[in-house]
Amino acid sequence: ADRTVCRAVPEALPVLGRDVTVPLVTGGEVTYAALDYAASAPALQRVWDDVAAYAPYYGSVHRGAGYLSQLSTDLFENAREAVAGFLGCRPDDQVVFTRSTTDSLNLLARALPAGCRVFVFETEHHASLLPWQDADVTCLDAPRSPRQAVETLERALADRDPHGPALVCVTGASNVTGELWPVRELAAAAHAHGARIVLDAAQLAPHHPVDITGLDVDWVAFSGHKLYAPFGSGVLAGRADWLRAAEPYLAGGGASRKVTRRQDGGVDVEWHESAARHEAGSPNVIGAYSIASACKALTEAGWDALIAREEYLIAKVRAGLAAVPEVRVLSLFGDDAPRVGVISFVVEGWNSSHFAAALSAEYGIGVRDGLFCAHPLVRTLLGTGPQAQGECGAPEAAPGEKSLNAIRVSFGAGTPDEHVERFVTAVA
Ligand code: PMP
Repeated sequence: ADRTVCRAVPEALPVLGRDVTVPLVTGGEVTYAALDYAASAPALQRVWDDVAAYAPYYGSVHRGAGYLSQLSTDLFENAREAVAGFLGCRPDDQVVFTRSTTDSLNLLARALPAGCRVFVFETEHHASLLPWQDADVTCLDAPRSPRQAVETLERALADRDPHGPALVCVTGASNVTGELWPVRELAAAAHAHGARIVLDAAQLAPHHPVDITGLDVDWVAFSGHKLYAPFGSGVLAGRADWLRAAEPYLAGGGASRKVTRRQDGGVDVEWHESAARHEAGSPNVIGAYSIASACKALTEAGWDALIAREEYLIAKVRAGLAAVPEVRVLSLFGDDAPRVGVISFVVEGWNSSHFAAALSAEYGIGVRDGLFCAHPLVRTLLGTGPQAQGECGAPEAAPGEKSLNAIRVSFGAGTPDEHVERFVTAVA
């Protein structure tokens, strides 16, 4: 029965691009195997159909009296509600549409109260690691188990002044190892020490349900293009108080409720208190609409079926990699850790960039190589030390030497068996 479910899901939730062919260096062509979902996932057919159906009715949002402007405004605001439902938001949470996870976390960084301390693990993606540079930020050592992560955070929080504001930023699923982080436990630890927590769900949301209330996190950030909705939109959802108290992320129309010219020649502004405060400029209605469409499609497909299917693909890939003695899979929490369909590895005697290029040129397989915008984590996993240069054009690792970068394969909804089978064969 499991096998039937696992086989049924890619057909129930098809993605675009399954028929695209690419040339091979050996001559001829092959259908493209998109195995880089962690960078950007292909669009769901359903998202594309919804966007195509809406496109003729496209109009300006919040800025027009015409029928199509009203329609677009409704779709945009309904998309906000759909996202709130998808994330299980509390009644007074705000959902702000942004450009991406990076944008969402930078927005939150600009909304920190004065004197806020920020705690991040060195294992974070740069989007979660870097926006806090203007705050008093503490970077925590990479933990080697979920339990150690909670203990490390608790120790760090216990050492701070308990009266000042503090924020913990943590990823739900690693973009390097795919491993799940103990979000609920980290949230409990943060709150027990009077801190707040933001969840970087860029890699979690496409693979697992994210319940802001159940996890008891204060904010969630994710990107549409990793959630099968590649139209330049992202989300920051959560507590309204810090967002309302902050200066608008961008100054401009839409964020301002009333603007007046002063006698002295200056300008006075009253800003909105709703999510519009941080959405100045004409909103990306197609981006927001496509995220809402993806949320609905994933929910309707059912998380149990999606997760069962992904577990089946993960097992296939891991078994295939384990059968090749030269392959080393990168892991922080060990082989048994629960994970999503994101797997990074190195191949002894191979430069990872050359390996990934060969997968493309000889097999039509698209993966990623490098340090995956998580330099400290990948260097820790490779054991190459903080100064190693490995993002692009890393030199060939001689036999017995450490690789300076890695290869990442990632997949999800709509990935057919054939893609992972071709990948496993190619690696072997
Ligand atoms: N966080 C994680 C865990 C990610 O994997 C990524 C994208 N690789 C980001 C944040 C940033 O997402 P975006 O590029 O859409 O802003």
